[in-house]
Amino acid sequence: LFAGPVDFLKGVVAMSGLPPADRAEVCFAGRSNVGKSSLINALTGRKSLARASNTPGRTQEVNYFTLGESHYLVDLPGYGYAEAPVAVVAKWQALLKSFLQGRQTLRRAFVLIDARHGVKAVDEEILTLLDKSAVTFQAVLTKVDKIGPRDRAKVLEQVRGALQKHPAAYPELVVTSSETGEGIATLRAIIAGIA
Ligand code: GDP
Repeated sequence: LFAGPVDFLKGVVAMSGLPPADRAEVCFAGRSNVGKSSLINALTGRKSLARASNTPGRTQEVNYFTLGESHYLVDLPGYGYAEAPVAVVAKWQALLKSFLQGRQTLRRAFVLIDARHGVKAVDEEILTLLDKSAVTFQAVLTKVDKIGPRDRAKVLEQVRGALQKHPAAYPELVVTSSETGEGIATLRAIIAGIA
């Protein structure tokens, strides 16, 4: 689906460190432990690719991956870590804002939502920031293997309801499990179709 190498490119701590804006890119955001690394690994078919972004020191970086020669996948640091020092959080927030508002080639944000929890207050913050930045976002439910059909219907309703309040929300959401592979090919095709 992606012609060319799928690989970790670089970790970025400032706008000046971004790679040339020469291809379409999508970013992935989600609260810590939502299953973002697992999903990126499943998407790329590379078992430990996103581990790079979970190693200490890398967690506050914007991590770039190449998806062949056509796309960049951008892994944004997990949010919702109460332990992070205020100064670190402030610096990260500033970079996130600049990135979302200033990156011309950013086509879509995928916001990961844990299927067991639905949209939480901490998720609402980033959804609002995406609205303000006019970055179209698509919700991706993760770890759906952990819930049964009844809870699935419930969480889908909750998430759809929450998305309705956000002008930047893309109406369709993607249901995934890195464990069973559900939705992975769909998500890959969605990204490949973004020009
Ligand atoms: P991150 O902090 O968002 O990068 O989350 P990780 O990818 O490291 O996943 C956090 C935890 O959830 C790990 O223990 C994973 O094994 C587990 N996990 C991630 N995705 C899935 C999934 O689709 N299904 C199940 N059952 N567990 C998952």
